[in-house]
Amino acid sequence: MIRLRRAVLPAATMERLRDYTDDIRQQVTEQERKDRAKQLWANRRQVRPALAKGLAEMAPGHERCMYCGDGQGTDIDHFEPKSLAPLRTFDWLNHVLACSFCNSNQKRSRFPVAADGSPLLVDPTAEDPLDHLRLVLALGTYQGLTDRGRACIEVFGLNARAVLVKGRMDAYAAAGVFMRMWRMTMDEGKSDKAKGIVRLAWNHPLIDVLVNMFHQSGHPAADALFVGEEDVLELLRDPELRAAFLHFRGVSY
Ligand SMILES: [Zn+2]
Repeated sequence: MIRLRRAVLPAATMERLRDYTDDIRQQVTEQERKDRAKQLWANRRQVRPALAKGLAEMAPGHERCMYCGDGQGTDIDHFEPKSLAPLRTFDWLNHVLACSFCNSNQKRSRFPVAADGSPLLVDPTAEDPLDHLRLVLALGTYQGLTDRGRACIEVFGLNARAVLVKGRMDAYAAAGVFMRMWRMTMDEGKSDKAKGIVRLAWNHPLIDVLVNMFHQSGHPAADALFVGEEDVLELLRDPELRAAFLHFRGVSY
């Protein structure tokens, strides 16, 4: 999971979403609201293209899942499930692009909350997952820094899904290859080609690995975190490389 910026939807779509929400609000009982929400969501043809476009714009890489970062984002997930919060069914701030595995096999209608009722899952469109999760680069597994980070690991199976763990280890190795190639290409004076390498690196699945690499390169214990990959750590600290890679995403770590 990485921090994502929410896209702006066309005014007409926002208006339509408000109309749907008003319709649900007008139902008398909570059960009627849930039933109406379900019915309207099943027939959301008028807003579907704009929602899909907005989510695709925000998603990492080529429309990757906003939770695992690996699978294709095929489903609009309700961060707060519509069975628990029918009034948020058409709330754009509650829509997250997920792969069908994260949506249907992992999260389903799970939405753990803390003792004070606040959500335990991290919404990557509203807050920075780096505050809650740390990737152990050499192992491809996550450590929870907070209860919320630990809840994400459990609910999304971030360490339990072997394809994600193996994929992250490969993504770590691939990121090193991209960075070494970028440096060589720049040294040869081929800046256009170097830009293409930056694009390839960010369009790779599991770019949470790349984000964690940049973030951890500034950690006081970075030498231990990147053991065996000292040359990659050196590249991550190269101001020219940082500027080129981070400018592409419009972020700083
Ligand atoms: Zn997923």
